[in-house]
Amino acid sequence: MLDSTASRNIPVTIASDNKCGKCTNSLCCNYFTQLIETPRSKYDFDCLLWQISHQDVNIYKDGKEWYLLMRNKCEHLMEPHGMCGIYDRRPDICREYTNDFCEYDQPLDEGYELYFNNYKELRKYCKKRFKKWDR
Ligand code: SF4
Ligand code: SF4
Repeated sequence: MLDSTASRNIPVTIASDNKCGKCTNSLCCNYFTQLIETPRSKYDFDCLLWQISHQDVNIYKDGKEWYLLMRNKCEHLMEPHGMCGIYDRRPDICREYTNDFCEYDQPLDEGYELYFNNYKELRKYCKKRFKKWDR
């Protein structure tokens, strides 16, 4: 298994019970996602182009579902060790999250059928999907 420094190809053995301790700034607390209606029409994709034009907004498709991904840090994430400032009161979605296979194992933008980092990437997809996109 490779750690989050995979781009440097440094193999390390990471056990599930100590992974979070090694995860600088708790990667999973630095973004949130929102399920959206499946885009079908040119108008739908035009709206997505508007949304992804905003800073730190990504879009991806996981199975049949489409999501907005906002790369914004949670205000309860404490510096410098990435602890949760409201640990005892943290939302259920945080409690239910497992580190069995998480962002520490694979970057957010990998492993999905479709992932768009920016306007340019999504527009390229739109032009491919809709032959008359620019008309
Ligand atoms: S669940 Fe994964 S991403 Fe979140 S703090 Fe633990 S190792 Fe990091
Ligand atoms: S509430 Fe705590 S566990 Fe949940 S995202 Fe924020 S810092 Fe992370």
